[in-house]
Amino acid sequence: MSSALRRLRESVCALHAELVRNNLVAWTAGNVSGRVPGEDLFVIKPSGVSYDDLTPEAIVVCDLDGNLVEGDFAPSSDTAAHAYVYRAMPHVGGVVHTHSTYASAWAARGEAIPCVLTAMADEFGGEIPVGPFALIGGDDIGKGVVATLTGHRSPAVLMQNHGVFTIGATAKAAVKAAVMCEDVARTVHIARQLGEPLPIPSGDVDSLYDRYQNVYGQRSPR
Ligand SMILES: [Zn+2]
Repeated sequence: MSSALRRLRESVCALHAELVRNNLVAWTAGNVSGRVPGEDLFVIKPSGVSYDDLTPEAIVVCDLDGNLVEGDFAPSSDTAAHAYVYRAMPHVGGVVHTHSTYASAWAARGEAIPCVLTAMADEFGGEIPVGPFALIGGDDIGKGVVATLTGHRSPAVLMQNHGVFTIGATAKAAVKAAVMCEDVARTVHIARQLGEPLPIPSGDVDSLYDRYQNVYGQRSPR
């Protein structure tokens, strides 16, 4: 096993603990995958293994058609959806799927989360959109994720009646988007109980998104 693949397995294993730490998952319902740099492969959680029992060695390697290439367990039942995203979106290096409570409540109603918080403008660049209802198994979920996120600034999609898929340049970025998606889903839900949340004007959404994506954070010293 190459050292790059070993590090990716360790990282994707550790990122599953973040799903638990951030209360995004019940039982085994959530998974993280990461593209193997320079290869037509990705690593993903094995099916049905509890998060406490997950080790880097248990993380399985699949090709971009979702076939198991290396590993002792069957890949996650969501592997076909992850594989479809990697095939269709070459810039994506990480994919996350959860049924996190508040985001899935929006998905159950088939309602996009409106951009009413500066944190949403920062991370998602607008609303968090809804994708189509699709049954697990074939390519339908992956197709719905790709069709909804293509040309959209949001790295998160609420798949109708189901849950959340997020994408990122890395698996860590996709996990961050899943955490932020649940956080804003919860806040906007609570705001809704008390009245009608105020939309942010689209020009201001653009400014916030641009600043957060391009200026915010630690910059390298000049
Ligand atoms: Zn699911």
